Amino acid sequence: MEYRKLGQTGLETSILGFGTGPLGDLYGLADPAEIIRAVQLAIEHGINFFDSSPYYGLTLSETRLGEALVGRRDKVLLATKACRYGLEDFDFSAKRILSSVNESLRRLKTDYIDLFQAHDVEFADLRQVVEETIPALRKVQESGKVRYIGITGYPPRFLRTIAQQVPVDTILSYCHYDLLNTSMEQALTPFARAAGVGLINASALHMGILTEQGAPKWHPAPREVHDAAGRIGEICKKRNLALTGVALRFAFDHPYVASTLVGMKTQAEILTNLDFLRMKSDPALLAEIRAAVGPALDLEWPSGKPENNA
Ligand code: NAD
Repeated sequence: MEYRKLGQTGLETSILGFGTGPLGDLYGLADPAEIIRAVQLAIEHGINFFDSSPYYGLTLSETRLGEALVGRRDKVLLATKACRYGLEDFDFSAKRILSSVNESLRRLKTDYIDLFQAHDVEFADLRQVVEETIPALRKVQESGKVRYIGITGYPPRFLRTIAQQVPVDTILSYCHYDLLNTSMEQALTPFARAAGVGLINASALHMGILTEQGAPKWHPAPREVHDAAGRIGEICKKRNLALTGVALRFAFDHPYVASTLVGMKTQAEILTNLDFLRMKSDPALLAEIRAAVGPALDLEWPSGKPENNA
């Protein structure tokens, strides 16, 4: 396993990180016994970075992760979030953050969180995030309950705008650096690198689109993106390559991202994705994929307040 520095935090994360959205049944029902074995297997193979949220499965992901980490807490870097609690349920206030951290600590069965993040900040007012949310996260950090703080969300420009106004330790961006969208590169990466902010790339499978089984029903991407993923799948099939492997290899090769978070819930997925760490990247294949994606590259869907998507 390769480990990378997460900005200036001093933390070193495995380049393959364990995304625990699927532990909250976001991608079909997960088997609780298999989750325990999957988490254990991941740790045995050097995966040390786990990302959760009270939003995933409405606390189910945190609860299951907490159970799976009993006796293994010291082997992992644990990230979770506050501020998002349901599809439409957000609270970016200081008061809620101060209670949220205690609830997460209880569910995760630990007395500290390595990385505490404001979840999906594009649903908040910029001013509130800058003046209230981030200062509250810092207050929690000063209390010793969390080691570092960050923000997460979909529009990379808005993530940058926040971090330019108030310092954060990390930024988690999702669906903006993969085979279907690379706009994180212009909008966020140069800033993060120059400012020494840790960068986490989530959903390198574009929330399941870039898998052999395809996207979940709730997926918000426009039709053109699904069609482009189909064309990438055909190219990989012709070459006898796993679509998921090609997609993950592309993400692992990013030079600044500290960890690529992949949503997983079974031992089989973990072993397969660990294998992809040994795969070689192929520039000719990537060029062919880029041509096949064509104008669907960087197509987005709306997320959060319209003014935060500008
Ligand atoms: P993803 O792109 O990682 O895709 C997950 C899907 O891919 C699941 O259905 C999983 O079963 C499947 N999969 C994984 N490995 C596979 C393999 N080898 N073969 C076939 N299928 C495979 O999407 P995600 O889970 O949404 O994103 C990863 C993680 O990043 C999340 O779990 C979460 O921790 C984090 N995340 C955070 C935010 C945020 O903070 N706003 C947003 C998105 C994701």
